[in-house]
Amino acid sequence: MCRKIFAAALVALSIFLSGCNIDKYLNVEVPAASKIFDANGELITIISRENKLPVTLDNVSLYMRQSIIAIEDSRFYKHHGIDPVGIARALYRNINARGIVEGGSTITQQLAKNLFLDPRRTVGRKLEELVLTVQLERKYTKDEILSMYLNEIYFGQGAYGIETAAKTYFNKPAKDLGLAESAMLAGIPRAPSIFNPAADPSVARDRQAIVLDRMVELGMIDEKKALQAKNQFLQPSKVPAQIMSAPYFTSEIIRQLEQKYQDNLELLYSGGLTIYTTLDLNMQAAAEKAFMEGFRGKDPALNGALVALDPKTGQIKAMVGGKDYNKSQFNRTLSKIQPGSTFKPFLYAAAIEHGYTAGTIITCEQVSFSQAGGGFYQPEDFQGGYHNRPFTLKEALYTSDNVVAVKLNDMVGPSIAAAYARRMGVTSVVQPVLSLPLGTSEATPIEMAGAYSTLANGGIRNEPYYITKVTDSAGRILEEFRPGPERVLDEKTAYIITDMLTGVLKTGGTAPGVSNAVGRPAAGKTGTTENYMDAWFIGYTPDLTAAVYVGYDEKNKGTGQTGSQAAAPLWSMFIKEALKLVPAREFPTPRGVIKVNICPDDGLLAGGLNTRSIEAAFVQGTEPQALCPGAGSGVIIKQLTLLNNGGRDIIKRYLLNQKNFSCGKKDMLQ
Ligand SMILES: [Zn+2]
Repeated sequence: MCRKIFAAALVALSIFLSGCNIDKYLNVEVPAASKIFDANGELITIISRENKLPVTLDNVSLYMRQSIIAIEDSRFYKHHGIDPVGIARALYRNINARGIVEGGSTITQQLAKNLFLDPRRTVGRKLEELVLTVQLERKYTKDEILSMYLNEIYFGQGAYGIETAAKTYFNKPAKDLGLAESAMLAGIPRAPSIFNPAADPSVARDRQAIVLDRMVELGMIDEKKALQAKNQFLQPSKVPAQIMSAPYFTSEIIRQLEQKYQDNLELLYSGGLTIYTTLDLNMQAAAEKAFMEGFRGKDPALNGALVALDPKTGQIKAMVGGKDYNKSQFNRTLSKIQPGSTFKPFLYAAAIEHGYTAGTIITCEQVSFSQAGGGFYQPEDFQGGYHNRPFTLKEALYTSDNVVAVKLNDMVGPSIAAAYARRMGVTSVVQPVLSLPLGTSEATPIEMAGAYSTLANGGIRNEPYYITKVTDSAGRILEEFRPGPERVLDEKTAYIITDMLTGVLKTGGTAPGVSNAVGRPAAGKTGTTENYMDAWFIGYTPDLTAAVYVGYDEKNKGTGQTGSQAAAPLWSMFIKEALKLVPAREFPTPRGVIKVNICPDDGLLAGGLNTRSIEAAFVQGTEPQALCPGAGSGVIIKQLTLLNNGGRDIIKRYLLNQKNFSCGKKDMLQ
């Protein structure tokens, strides 16, 4: 009785609002595709629903029809478009589950909502939706409504309508869908970006089980059948219907947009949106080329990732999530991987801001740290053993000494080092442990590229981002991303770390050929995880940061190569090509930083008989003031020509130090 009054009221309302002509919605013009552009205005791809394959209801398997009704609107054949009982049940279940497990919208309501293109969610629109719902119910039979619905709804991966979905995921027509397949597909429309099996097979299976249980509850199938379906092995295809360039990047932004517009996917796919992105198709081509060349002749199962950012803005310029998108859609730039020694610069940045300098001396030797849970931690260098000699921090970083890094971490404090990793851009959990600089906490290549960009950008952090702006067909801005740069490191600290990391790419560093290969000022760090499992190279110029990872998807399968061997060549190929039209430039030296030549054994001013000398950057006033043993004044004059400023101070200090000369290592400790 109550329901009849309710329906009657809506009918009256619909007649009252006669402006809402149903045909206006059902005979929509050809929908406009949405376009995705790169940062230079080049078209990356078009997203549309051109691949929609209409199907009549008798060409949809009974299981499919039953399962969609079971999960979306079990009283579909009983209500008049709006279902107060369904709304109450959904409310009750959601309260019990403390979250949204069931929507209250009927299939007819969802269809009405889908027929709108207008993104604005106003009260007026809600009312229009209700009116359209009632009109649909009056004009069409239940089967016609179900048929329209099944042809309209979105199943993820670019698949609109049940026929396209059946073809996309199971390579068969909708009439041949079995119970297990039907239940999996029926689970998708509620949240296509989450429940589609290409996004996460285990989530899709859990969702399938919920659909099957509901079917049992409604008496559509028995327990035994449900169990059989749950145990049936399904291998849904993951290849999306659309062909795209920059497929990993494009898929990721479509995923993000689908999540953002999940209540109005019609707008995304047919609303004629213009999506402006940060990608640079030229750099993307350079990345893909580097990948092709870098993996040529290697084990086909070996894979990897490359992501490049503009450090000045955080814009993602190139993204290669794997070797071949058609074979594997898994985006490795977004997956958590042990970063190895690429984590060391975070600790060193913390050290520079806590009283240490590039010339601070720490000895690589056997050392034992007692652990909280009992036992001892005895760090060793990468290939085992110790150097048994002192290192300056600069040399320790560019040679990637493990023992020095762990000792330094102990001195600075692991929680301080972890805090620096986070503030520079690592968003994954960083464990404040002694082995932190060896990369024991996992991080994604994109996070690592973001954190290194902080160094490239003089200590100012930018969040990596994909989309700059989205406008609708009328040119109205639906959203716009505004970067929020944040200073997280002193400019001088960033420069000093960059100076240390330029050493990695030169003779004596862990990737000695790279500097010559790229032919422009660049800094970077190699990473090789235990047993040569994963190989990394993350590097930057003032204009571009790129993280390269090479490894196997398979757990416990190692590359057998170092970051320098496996990842650095890809990095230099990419940087060289990507920046070929950008003039080379030096990292700008901030005021208050000076460069001096020091002896790597004691951290004192180089000269005289000590022929091993390295140039290092210091905050002015913290540079060494004493000369190494055997230094002569003639050498000092030569050195001064290398100093970029503060030369006069050095002469003064040199003269002062001549009086109380000392080269004891202890002086430089701390
Ligand atoms: Zn060592």
